[in-house]
Amino acid sequence: MDHLIEGYRRYRDERWPQLRRLHQDLAKRGQAPRVAVIACSDSRVDPSTIFDVGPGELFVVRNVANLAPPFEEGGGRHGVSAAIEFAVKRLKVDTILVLGHAQCGGCAHALAEHEHDGSFLDMWVSLLEPAKARIKDSTGDPATLLEYESIRVTLENLRTFPFVQEAIAERGLKLAGARYGVADGALEVLDPQTGAFAAVT
Ligand SMILES: [Zn+2]
Repeated sequence: MDHLIEGYRRYRDERWPQLRRLHQDLAKRGQAPRVAVIACSDSRVDPSTIFDVGPGELFVVRNVANLAPPFEEGGGRHGVSAAIEFAVKRLKVDTILVLGHAQCGGCAHALAEHEHDGSFLDMWVSLLEPAKARIKDSTGDPATLLEYESIRVTLENLRTFPFVQEAIAERGLKLAGARYGVADGALEVLDPQTGAFAAVT
């Protein structure tokens, strides 16, 4: 914890003086981010760093393997679904971006030959079962293929939420996908027309 406190002191001394006015404004007016991001919890994939944006610009949901479950009735403590609902219904974001990445430990776990013991992690990455079925006969590195599919699965699941469907139809909410290369910093964006990922130049 000590290095975090040291970091906080640096932030307070060096960055806070520049950010004070922005934060006071955000506190007064409330947040109004235009984009929600569903990203992996992976410590190497920080959306604000990758997109070079500041406080108040992204509403970020992070979890193992950048997943969203499908819409489900009947309550339960659905943290990811609650965050999506907040972003779409309260904040009325224009875009939901699903950000996957290379070397994803969550995707690797889903592919690993091991005893699935019903752990929280097993249950969570079982959301990738439809994606695993799709890549079964594909050539290429299964982990990389599953990283791309994890983005597509989340986009499909987002479309099962009635309030997402409504927001798409009524106010043009956009759903987007991208994959970040941890080693090279490359970003590939999903082309909704072709369904393929293309490098951002
Ligand atoms: Zn990951």
